[in-house]
Amino acid sequence: MIQKLTFCVLALFFSTWGQAAENSKTEIMWLGQSAFKITSPTGKVILTDPWLLANPKTPPEYKKLENLGKIDVLLVSHAHWDHFADAPAIAKMNNIPMWGPGDLNSVTVALGILPSNLAPRFNKSGTVTPVPGIQVTAVHAEHSSILVWKNPQTQIEETHFGGEPIGFIIELENGFKIYHMGDTGLFSDMKFIAEYYKPDLVMMPIGGNFTMGPKEAAFAAKEWLKVPNVIPMHFGANPLAKGTVEEFQKFLEGSGIKVNALTPGLARQF
Ligand SMILES: [Zn+2]
Repeated sequence: MIQKLTFCVLALFFSTWGQAAENSKTEIMWLGQSAFKITSPTGKVILTDPWLLANPKTPPEYKKLENLGKIDVLLVSHAHWDHFADAPAIAKMNNIPMWGPGDLNSVTVALGILPSNLAPRFNKSGTVTPVPGIQVTAVHAEHSSILVWKNPQTQIEETHFGGEPIGFIIELENGFKIYHMGDTGLFSDMKFIAEYYKPDLVMMPIGGNFTMGPKEAAFAAKEWLKVPNVIPMHFGANPLAKGTVEEFQKFLEGSGIKVNALTPGLARQF
């Protein structure tokens, strides 16, 4: 009887311990281009740059936005459609704010795309706590940002000022820091951002044409970011963004930096 009880207690201890160890991981799923679903160690779900419905890389099941499950934090790096597209719908579905460049959010409200309570303002170096335990800081990105929007009243495509593009430092409950660079070309303050915020993992564009290509991204990773882990993004969805993971890996050879090439729809733990 005592033996049995000891066994039960031990089994309970190890199963709880195992669960805790498992739960301390961050789960990251790529949904194509710059869209990621990040599940924090305590189960908070962060979604970045959701261009899903028309994204050729997004797995079919996630083209139904409700299949994403509940989203706690929504981040949009700039106004271009391959980042902004489905964000307003997701903000409304979950009744959560869309955290994007302050001026983009002002335009979003002015156009009636989102109500002001779902489009708060913040800007570079600003840190917000969208939900307890998750901190998001806006950082510089070297890109542009224009909102091309079809006016539902006139059915005419209009272009609007979209604020300045940003990247994000996302700090999770356990201190794990992800640097989502947004769309960016090379700029030397990446070095400063990495030194100051000390990210553990960097999501970096490698497609070229609109952003850094494999060579520039590898240079940034090796010389400036000096992180153990990178995830390539922003390639393979637009025929002009031709950069590949293989080229990126080749340029990083011998650096000791691990290229985590994710398959859209398959989550990986970090
Ligand atoms: Zn883009």
